[in-house]
Amino acid sequence: MNPSIPGGVTLWAMLVAALPGASRAQDTLPPADRQLARDILRELIEINTTDSAGHTPEAARAMAQRLVAAGFPAADVQVLIGPDARHGNLVARYRGSGQGGRPILVMAHLDVVPARREDWSVDPFAFTEREGWFYGRGSTDNKAGAAMLVADFIRLRREGFVPDRDLVLMLEGDEETAGSCVQWLIERHRDLIDAEFALNTDAGGGVLRNGRPVSFTVQASEKVYATYLLEARDKGGHSSLPRPVDNPIYHVAAALVRLSQYQFPVRLNEISRGFFERSAQLETGQLAADMRAVLRNPPTALRSPGSRPRPSTTRSSARPAWRRCSTPDTPRTRCRRRRGRR
Ligand SMILES: [Zn+2]
Repeated sequence: MNPSIPGGVTLWAMLVAALPGASRAQDTLPPADRQLARDILRELIEINTTDSAGHTPEAARAMAQRLVAAGFPAADVQVLIGPDARHGNLVARYRGSGQGGRPILVMAHLDVVPARREDWSVDPFAFTEREGWFYGRGSTDNKAGAAMLVADFIRLRREGFVPDRDLVLMLEGDEETAGSCVQWLIERHRDLIDAEFALNTDAGGGVLRNGRPVSFTVQASEKVYATYLLEARDKGGHSSLPRPVDNPIYHVAAALVRLSQYQFPVRLNEISRGFFERSAQLETGQLAADMRAVLRNPPTALRSPGSRPRPSTTRSSARPAWRRCSTPDTPRTRCRRRRGRR
């Protein structure tokens, strides 16, 4: 490993290498290690961890069992149920020599967003491999991350690797919904997860092209959402005499139509600009051209027809710049803004 790379990034690069799949770089891993990562991914995908199902404790226990079976002391592998009985988290400590400073935290989430069988071409909670691709809810977001972390903890331990500081693995139970698990862990179990810095497998990562590493993206910030409540008021009346035009329901409807037609201006910041500049050098064809067009001032293209933004592109975007929410022709429509993050 390149000694100039911080230890955490080096570890993550190793973790990426353990992702099962078809590529030449990954062929350097022994087949048994690839199989292990694949088996863990399968096990996680086949546990339905949507919030309504409430099976994250089961997923946390399954991963704990694997780590203990691989030789991690049971005291260093903790399944923490909370903040309520329906949510489970795992915190495991890979003990280092202690010479490198405070621990590094590596993390993923065990829960997934809902998936209905009728909306999918395959069973979302059955691990399926077709032509080298894995299908199943969470196969990328983010059971792949959880599987890589667990597989690498097991593999590194078997190889006798001793990090120069503790590595702490955290798998938490409700990233996709309330985010209460990580909050609860910070409040109740800070001692277990305290670290110099944290690496989250939920974004960024290595990109291989024909088995050759071409880039490694790091997410700088999380996109946040903003919730608006549109409310229209009126002097009232009797439903036997409805007013088809001057009616608060239609005021809100008109506002929603206008909103659907609005396109937000492209605004770049230092990070998103840097992302497009560097990525344009790695891409070709229309995608590279689009990236360069976005960089022009003003941007000359947002997205070409038929092209799709990549996950890393969408995830790197800055916080929404929504400021105004009333419209001139609906003066009685009030707007309240709520912020949240996920
Ligand atoms: Zn995620």
